[in-house]
Amino acid sequence: MAYFKSTLLLFSFFLFLADASALTILIDPGHGGEEDGAVATTQGETPPRVIKEKDIALDISKKIHELLRQKNYSVYLTRSIDRTVTLQERAAIAEKTKADLFISVHINSSPEAGAVGFETYYLDNHDDVAIKKVEKTENIQGDGENVVVQQILVDLVVQQTVSTSKPLAESIHSELKSRTGRKYKIPSRGVKPGLFYVLALSKRPGVLLEVGFISTYKERVRMMTPKFQDDYAADVVRGIEAYVKKRSAKTRYDKYNKAK
Ligand SMILES: [Zn+2]
Repeated sequence: MAYFKSTLLLFSFFLFLADASALTILIDPGHGGEEDGAVATTQGETPPRVIKEKDIALDISKKIHELLRQKNYSVYLTRSIDRTVTLQERAAIAEKTKADLFISVHINSSPEAGAVGFETYYLDNHDDVAIKKVEKTENIQGDGENVVVQQILVDLVVQQTVSTSKPLAESIHSELKSRTGRKYKIPSRGVKPGLFYVLALSKRPGVLLEVGFISTYKERVRMMTPKFQDDYAADVVRGIEAYVKKRSAKTRYDKYNKAK
């Protein structure tokens, strides 16, 4: 019996390891190439510089990618340089790499002076007017305006992904809140449902991260700092790992109960 138990334990352990490392994660830096995303112009510099969402999103995405690679995950980027990638191309990369999880990295912008904080989105229907404004700016990427995402497709993808995407978003957000958020005293704007074309088209569980506001001087400067980017990336990876661990435990529990 003891032998059986220890064999079972060992087997479960390998099952968990196989589960974690077999996971393929696709990191999607928002915008790129002809698409700058949100922009802000520096003040007090001659000549003034234009800070672009696409560049900060790429820096942070690369850091997330590298950290996951070091942990032996199978991990890809939808772009590793400053180039235009259409929404369909991003979805095609998700198909090609057989990604299990899709992480899209974006930087927020607001006409409201002094807007601060980070927010984490997962694909779902909602009625929130403020969220609709964020969707409007993020859905105009690449060929975003020409992409017709039918409600029926959205509903189907929501149905298939929300049970993974929501807890994944919550897991990542909770790490961000308790570490980077606390360390830099940045308010959490919460985990939110959103209808983002890139998430719908990728057709897999995923989240869209809005790291902070490029339109707010303090946040813009902070987001360009490698140290902040490292901290933020580390939290995203912790959140993914915490989610994967929980999911593996649940899978084992379900399997055990089925076998009984
Ligand atoms: Zn964006």
